[in-house]
Amino acid sequence: MSSVNAPGSLKNLRRRNRDLVLRAVQAGGAASRVDIIRETGLSRTTVSSLVGQLLAEGLLAESTDRRATQTATQTGRPPTRLTLEPSAGAVVGIHLRHDGIRLAVADMAGTVLSEVVVDLDVDHRADAALTFVEEATSDLLDDTGLDRGRLLGAGVAVSSPVRTLSRRGPALLATWQDINIGVALDERLGVPVRVGNDANLGATAERVFGAARHARNLVYVMLNEGVGAGLYLDGRPYLGAKGVAGEFGHVVVAPGGQVCRCGNRGCLETVAGAAALTTALPSSAGAGAPDLDEVLAACAAGDPGALRIVADAGRAVGTALAGMCTMLDPDLVVIGGRTADAGKPLIDGITETLHRGIPPTGEPIVPVVTGQLGARAEVLGAIALAVATAPLTVLNDGLADAATS
Ligand SMILES: [Zn+2]
Repeated sequence: MSSVNAPGSLKNLRRRNRDLVLRAVQAGGAASRVDIIRETGLSRTTVSSLVGQLLAEGLLAESTDRRATQTATQTGRPPTRLTLEPSAGAVVGIHLRHDGIRLAVADMAGTVLSEVVVDLDVDHRADAALTFVEEATSDLLDDTGLDRGRLLGAGVAVSSPVRTLSRRGPALLATWQDINIGVALDERLGVPVRVGNDANLGATAERVFGAARHARNLVYVMLNEGVGAGLYLDGRPYLGAKGVAGEFGHVVVAPGGQVCRCGNRGCLETVAGAAALTTALPSSAGAGAPDLDEVLAACAAGDPGALRIVADAGRAVGTALAGMCTMLDPDLVVIGGRTADAGKPLIDGITETLHRGIPPTGEPIVPVVTGQLGARAEVLGAIALAVATAPLTVLNDGLADAATS
């Protein structure tokens, strides 16, 4: 027993390397062979051989990365994309917005199989929100014909900071003070639940499924009612010492401006959050402020006031981004959230002040693009989080085999 179990045993080494490759694909949601080589430190030959073995065993699946952006295709040929075998299980992704819930069941490659969206006052009706999640998860599993036992985990995106070392619920939501979302949903769903901040998970989603594939250093800006940012540095999510990095909406851009919900004055959110856009534009119907969809529709129709409001919001975002980009030197900035639907006028406003605010280095200035996932970014990020942290029995069995062989 001791001789075959020795650290240098060839069989154990191969088993350990195989698990490293599997874990690299799982953690990344999807990965190319180059990503795996970088993540594991294994040689090209070893990775190639182990990927071949895992494909033959039916633990990994491979597809052509058709949606890869120009940033990913500098070599010309679209890279192939490795994921976990889709049918290895299922996960549920949950996006708890302030005023609604989006919930989706996906396979282990992150492909959404069934999805539901509901308006609900999540901030003030915690129990109703948790009950909806429990019931909708069952209904969606029924829709897809999946056995309950196939569900391996759940991810939750919440609109508040999530501290690194606890799964404690968001303090900013009024009725959630004493509720630990992770624990409450663990009990209701009967699977491991991971909770993440919505902007961080939006960044994850754009990186795994959307506009930021293969970006090692990414700034993702989420423009909704709230304004936030998610960061990837050197290929890994950056959450900060306390897990609250990316509170971009509370960067001060207008020192004499309006008081923010956080108590400071002139935060970016008071200038570029949805409320700032809707209250700045007189309603075309003549009754009260328009909603964000009306502002975006007016913008698309070329209304000068709406275009001005969106461009001003963009310029404020660009001013705040200039400091961040000067510090971090990202490959790419992705603008997500509902306001990103404004498109060109918003991006033009952002790049105007961003370019003005970045010191000239002779290097090209970081590209700014809109996200590809729209309102689904956060729920897809929650799915990626659930896939990345799902307990894979194949790994555990493998470890057990290695320990007893
Ligand atoms: Zn603030």
